[in-house]
Amino acid sequence: MTSFCPIIWPEDPTPASERNCEECGLYKQGTRMVFGEGNPNAPIMVILDNPGAREDREGNAYVCGTRQTLQQAVHEVGLDKELIYVTYILKRRPIRKYDKERTREICMHRHLDEQLKRQKPKILLCMGNVAVQSFFENAEVDVKGLRGSWHDVKGYQTTVAYHPLAVRRRPNLYGLLVEDLTLVKAAIQ
Ligand code: SF4
Repeated sequence: MTSFCPIIWPEDPTPASERNCEECGLYKQGTRMVFGEGNPNAPIMVILDNPGAREDREGNAYVCGTRQTLQQAVHEVGLDKELIYVTYILKRRPIRKYDKERTREICMHRHLDEQLKRQKPKILLCMGNVAVQSFFENAEVDVKGLRGSWHDVKGYQTTVAYHPLAVRRRPNLYGLLVEDLTLVKAAIQ
């Protein structure tokens, strides 16, 4: 890895109509909604399972491990961060047990489908088995089996990669993450 200093990417404000969303019940867990971050007009949309905290306990901006590793790999392949928008299946971070299947389905259809229609990204990169299974609406698929090629999901050119946190835990996956981002880079050039 080359030396690199991660920064907090600008937050995409939650639309006023969604700020008080209670549809799936996850609001009861008290974490704040994060709609997305990065450039909303970017051609690449990264889809993660749920947002990590953007602030520490004192409210200072904080770059979590997921963001650090994603940004490191983006830097390593030479992708301009302005080409990337990051969003989530769930817009709130669960901190307790919840009904995964039901909650993910409700949130995805309520927000992500609308984001896709509005933002029209050219390419989707879905990261981690949880997001991949939700987005592909198939509990049998996984990153290992899908990575390295393109898939048509909801009419979008989609590829997959390991979750940045999995890469932090298993550094031998970092090379695969770089490969997957290289595939993405080649597709938008
Ligand atoms: S997770 Fe999504 S659908 Fe559920 S309450 Fe939050 S914003 Fe609404």
